Parts: sequence; structure tokens; C-alpha cells
Amino acid sequence: MGANDLATVTLHRRAAPSAEPVRWSVEAVQALLDLPFDELLFQAQTVHRAHWPARDIELATLLSVKTGGCPENCGYCPQSAEFDTGVQAQKLMSVEEVTRAAQAAKDAGATRFCMGAAWRAPKDRDIEKVAELIGAVKGLGLQSCATLGMLEAHQAQALRAAGLDYYNHNLDTAPEYYGDIVDTRSYQDRLDTLAHVRAAGISVCCGGIVGMGEAPVHRAGLIAQIANLDPYPESVPINSLVRVPGTPLADAPPIDPLDFVRVIAVARITMPTARVRLSAGRQQLGEAVQALCFLAGANSIFYGDKLLVTGNPDVEADRALLHKLGYATRAVQVQAGEHP
Ligand code: SF4
Repeated sequence: MGANDLATVTLHRRAAPSAEPVRWSVEAVQALLDLPFDELLFQAQTVHRAHWPARDIELATLLSVKTGGCPENCGYCPQSAEFDTGVQAQKLMSVEEVTRAAQAAKDAGATRFCMGAAWRAPKDRDIEKVAELIGAVKGLGLQSCATLGMLEAHQAQALRAAGLDYYNHNLDTAPEYYGDIVDTRSYQDRLDTLAHVRAAGISVCCGGIVGMGEAPVHRAGLIAQIANLDPYPESVPINSLVRVPGTPLADAPPIDPLDFVRVIAVARITMPTARVRLSAGRQQLGEAVQALCFLAGANSIFYGDKLLVTGNPDVEADRALLHKLGYATRAVQVQAGEHP
């Protein structure tokens, strides 16, 4: 059986109703990645249309509510205190500041508001403060998401009690390559936090980063890991490394844009009901590659990387692209003046 046959058989098995959770081998995911490009996109779009309405793009806005000074050493991250990247550490933002930013995101068309804090693991008093931020975001009618580092079980329960809808914790890469990227925590630490989040009843947002110098088999290993979480995450952000000067990965060889599209397609095929989100690195892909990513099954984007009440050029560019592609998102409706 050739690689392409294997991938087709695997797809058919995935579509069959089954009480058993589907487990993806790294080899099966690799076989999908190796498909001819048109076959891969056809399979991905077929799965996508079977589970999602066409042209339904979720807009999620991310705000760094506590920036820099992190004791971890994730090789891609400018917020690590170990790397000299020029990022100025900032304390946790106030409820008023976050409320203003969330309102601006909502006004621009976002439906989910994600708050990121550069902690290794929050203290319980940090959780209490974040609970107030969650309340403010929820009060505006937005879905809330947080990414705060490693959590203990009782902290996840406290966030759920505060109304948190989603918790983001990425697996970053395959287990075999993880030690090349960060060595201040283990892969199992990541899995433990994800288990606490799931057990608390919070929806899971978990993805990874490609373009970190990994081999193709590591991309397959990452997708297999995420897809084999039981159940698999509701949101799967796929990032293309942004090479920040001062980080250890500043000179990593860039991923071929079509290989990035392949990863998106395979995420869609292996996790049919997940929101697959185009995340970091989207701007450097260009419009044509982003359009291919949507065709491959991406149905969520991070919308604008800075929240300015007026004149955010990234938001304008995103609205223009969505309009050009004929997507009827809330952002396009805002652009057309259909929302105040
Ligand atoms: S834990 Fe998060 S903030 Fe800290 S270095 Fe890693 S990615 Fe950056």
C-alpha cells in the first residue's frame, strides 16, 4: 500500500461512525502530509464542508495582559527573560484597560477575546485578578479565552467558575523535538495542564508552531499528538514561526508556505469539528497563501495584533482580505456599516 492509499483509507475510517476515539498514528498523518497538493486540499475541503458552513471565519483578538519577564526559555518567544529582545516587561493590566481593549475588539468585529500573560505558572492571587478580567470580557458579550501558563487543577476550576470559556495551552511541536525548543518544562507538564483544563469543563485551545527547524515527521507528530487528545481540542491554532531577533530561533530556516498550507489541511482532516486558527505569522504568508489556508479548512484568525480604537492597519487589511474573498464575517459587516 502506498502512502497515498494509506491516507485515503485513514480518511474513510475517520468518517465512519464509531464509539471508539480515533487514534492517529504519526505515519498516517505523515501520509496525509505527503499527498499530492490537490488531493490533500480536496480531502480537507470535503471534511470541512461536511462539518462547517462555508465561509464561516471566526475572529479572535489576542491581547497581552501581562508582558515579558517570563522565566521559561521557549526558543521562539521574545517574552522570555533569558533572551535580549527589547521587550519591556509590563505588569498585569487593570480591569479598565482590558475592558477598553475588549470593547474595541468587539467594535471591530471580534467575537472571542483572548488574554495572554507571560507567566510560567500563575499564582493563586494572579488567578483571582484574571477572574476579574474574565468577568469584564464576558460582560461585553464576548467569548473569553486565557493563556496563562501551567495550571493546577484547582486553578483551572477557579477560572471555570469565573466564566472562562477557553484556555489556550499549546503543545508547540512533536514530543521528540520539544527538548530542542524549551527545556525549562516537560511535554508531560503541558499534557497535565491540558488535562486539568478539560476536567474543569473549560474548552481546550491547543495547537503548535511550525517553521522552527523541525523535520516534516515532527509536524506529523505534533498533529497526531493534538488529534489524539481525547477529545481533541475545540480550537487548534497553527502558528508559523515569527523569527524575532534575539531569540534562539531568529535564524531558523523559514517553512515553505505550501508546507504550511499542508499542515492546516491535515489539522482539518484529523480534527473535523475543531476551529483551526491561522495564528502567528499570518501576515508574512501573504493574501494568496492565506486564501489557500482557508481552502484547506482554516476557519478562524487572530484579528489585528494591536488594539487601537482607530486606524489599526492590520484590522483594515484583514477586513479587506475577507471582503475580497467574499466572506460574510461580522468584520465585513462592520466595514459595510451594518453594525454600529
Ligand atoms: S511560557 Fe509563554 S511567555 Fe514564557 S517564554 Fe514560553 S511562550 Fe514565552
